[in-house]
Amino acid sequence: MKAVFCQNAQFNVADLPEPVPGPGQVRIKVLRCGICGSDLHARHGIDSWADMAVKSGYDGFGRSSEQIVFGHEFCGEITEYGPDCRRRTSTGKPIVALPLLRGSKGVNALGFSAHAPGAYAEQMLVSEPLMLPVPNGLTPEVASLTEPMTVSLHAVRRGEVNKKTVAIVIGCGPVGLGVILMLKAKGVQAIVASDYSPGRRALAKACGADVVVNPAEASPFTARRSGITKMSNALNLAVTTLDKLGRLPIGWWHAMRLFEALGVRPKHPVIFECVGVPGVIASIIEGAPLFSRVVVVGMGDGAHQFSPFVACKKEIDLRFVGTYSPLEFRDTLHMLADGKVDPRPLITGTVGLEGVEGAFAALRDPETHAKILIDPYASEPGLAAQKLNAA
Ligand SMILES: [Zn+2]
Repeated sequence: MKAVFCQNAQFNVADLPEPVPGPGQVRIKVLRCGICGSDLHARHGIDSWADMAVKSGYDGFGRSSEQIVFGHEFCGEITEYGPDCRRRTSTGKPIVALPLLRGSKGVNALGFSAHAPGAYAEQMLVSEPLMLPVPNGLTPEVASLTEPMTVSLHAVRRGEVNKKTVAIVIGCGPVGLGVILMLKAKGVQAIVASDYSPGRRALAKACGADVVVNPAEASPFTARRSGITKMSNALNLAVTTLDKLGRLPIGWWHAMRLFEALGVRPKHPVIFECVGVPGVIASIIEGAPLFSRVVVVGMGDGAHQFSPFVACKKEIDLRFVGTYSPLEFRDTLHMLADGKVDPRPLITGTVGLEGVEGAFAALRDPETHAKILIDPYASEPGLAAQKLNAA
């Protein structure tokens, strides 16, 4: 079978042996595979990720010297069951799967390990228990976005948003756009999106952002009234509140305890950091209103620096997200299949295996591309690109 592997940061299109499914494994024909920002990073930075993975207790991460077949965002068709499978879905049916493979070398990350080759290939292995049939005749293009959209759903859930939350999305690459789509699906009524690129801002609009901001021209934190922006206002509010409560015939502490029990808190936005570049968290802490909740989704590996003083005084609630649950994966698939979320604006091109190298180069330009899919059986390497409209 044909596959693309990465070794020493070079891509090679090669004929590799067709994978043979072991116990509990299923071989699939890959229909579509998304190119993820993580893949772009892994091409040159996989060793530093592998080092960090070792620190968190996983030693199966790929090394740059190994032949790694990327691809963890995929949709395929069942071609062969291995031994000890339950075979609940018939051969030939489309499926998606959580990107983990259980085999003789333990459980490994599909697309990031030499023990679990990914979907930049005509065929691959998945774990049967992690596989879900694609419902409702959902197209392979959209089904292959289940994985990245699950990351976005998880981020939004960790943000504990409600319909009245002002959500601010910093960075409108595929991750930020996914977050906007999921916020919209959750019924959030005020979504502010911020990106330097006019093309990305246009996509943010297409995904449902209510306000788009060029951070070179305006602050995303004041584009909508989302909370208290000045410390002096917060202090004023505290004194005024106590003054007002002091006029009640009961002790102010009784009233305050009641407010607490009811969950009354100062209004604050939920900010999604979807850039992943050093300096961004610091600038959010500086610019964000008091009591903001910041959800860090941008997973760069650069070292960040910020002063806790400002974050402490503002009571910034900083959260990090990097995984998701199988239930979120299943729910995302069904949200896509039921038409509750339509991620098609994200897809800006499709390439064959020969086009992977070109796609990686094209993805460096935020004006042109967001998500490029691989169709391993495409006869043309070509890049069906559409130039994004300027916002
Ligand atoms: Zn990904």
